[in-house]
Amino acid sequence: ARGARIFSGIKPTGHLTLGNYLGAMRRWVVTDQHRAESLFCVVDLHALTVEHDPARVRRLSRQTAGLLLAAGLDPAVCTVFAQSHVDEHTRLMFLLECVAADGEMRRMIQYKEKSVRARDSGQSVRLSLLTYPALMAADILVYGATEVPVGEDQRQHVELTRDLAVRFNQRYGHTFVVPKATVPEVAARVMDLQDPSVKMGKSHAATSGIVYLLDEPAVVAKKVRRAVTDSEPGVSYDREERPGVANLLEILSSCTGEEPAVLAERYDGIGSLKADTADAVVELLRPLQARHAEISADPSYVDGVLREGAERARALGRPTVDAAYEAIGL
Ligand code: ADP
Repeated sequence: ARGARIFSGIKPTGHLTLGNYLGAMRRWVVTDQHRAESLFCVVDLHALTVEHDPARVRRLSRQTAGLLLAAGLDPAVCTVFAQSHVDEHTRLMFLLECVAADGEMRRMIQYKEKSVRARDSGQSVRLSLLTYPALMAADILVYGATEVPVGEDQRQHVELTRDLAVRFNQRYGHTFVVPKATVPEVAARVMDLQDPSVKMGKSHAATSGIVYLLDEPAVVAKKVRRAVTDSEPGVSYDREERPGVANLLEILSSCTGEEPAVLAERYDGIGSLKADTADAVVELLRPLQARHAEISADPSYVDGVLREGAERARALGRPTVDAAYEAIGL
């Protein structure tokens, strides 16, 4: 059997956050790209499932790709590309919509949350928001990915992808590799620093609770030092009872590699935990920011990487999609 193959994606719906980095991107850079054939995709079609501004999506797509490279994805060892450049994704999506049931799409937490948000702000819910998981399943299955490194919030979509792959294989003959999600042990769900009941999301309105990867060091430090915690004395690790403190401990843990509970014992007060976490995040982002400045100096570099990436991705994906069309009776 073939070895591991890795696929993951990121939506160009806002400026990338510390949540995206610790929950997903850092593993892509540090381990994934070196241990398996891997593909990392700016999933731009997914940015169209909610109200969007065309110029902003275009700008953010390129910026997101630039940040993936700045974070350390190396186009010499992995494939970095944009979803809309490779038609295989939407070709396969339709077949997956034909094995999926509408009920299982409606059950997705993200659909429920985002459709409520759209309706609350007086907008209609785009049909593509409902069918989004079929496109995401196609993104993964096109490449025969065995692993999908994502944050906790994407686990349910990867489970649905598995169900669709198994169902297709049972009905029409073995066509797809059945992938599994890999979720980090800490910082799988980085929470907003001002409201630790919601995740730090790039698609949310900007607040001082969201650390962006390109925030100036002084801004990063200020956001972390002003994180909302609680009035209990001391530091302890308890995600349920002390979500604000637990979030800081997980962020620090993710930076230093020490267990959150071990770190908790080291601190007497929240102040020094915040100070150390602020320093750790600033240092974590420093090399990425420096490389981003270099990459931004040459916009054609990112375009070239995306062009070559799309060619590689197409070549990898086409045989599987052709086989799926054949299997389903076309
Ligand atoms: P967002 O939800 O910020 O718009 P995406 O849906 O584009 O981000 O997700 C890109 C990757 O980042 C996914 O693997 C997702 O699980 C991960 N991710 C997003 N937000 C967080 C977070 N707050 N904590 C951990 N991982 C996250």
